[in-house]
Amino acid sequence: MGTIVDDHFMVCTDCLMIIANDDATGLDHFLDEESAAAREREVRQSIAAAQRDKRYIVVGDSEHDEEFSTSSCDCCNTTLADSRHHCVLMT
Ligand SMILES: [Zn+2]
Repeated sequence: MGTIVDDHFMVCTDCLMIIANDDATGLDHFLDEESAAAREREVRQSIAAAQRDKRYIVVGDSEHDEEFSTSSCDCCNTTLADSRHHCVLMT
């Protein structure tokens, strides 16, 4: 059992897909192949940065998800208006 660093780590759908399922194939639905690959790199780098110092992100409680938010993703910092998903940053 780890220690909670941030119990309100709100991430965008792109980040969640990769955090939860290590799956970036959903990006292709919205972007062409080149943009999707660039976006995937950006998200993976953001996740790696958030998980520095032995921290790790766990998917939180979907009841705390926000259907529509313009606040920045706590992982990749996108401000694209979309849903934000509740995660917890542990160490
Ligand atoms: Zn994100």
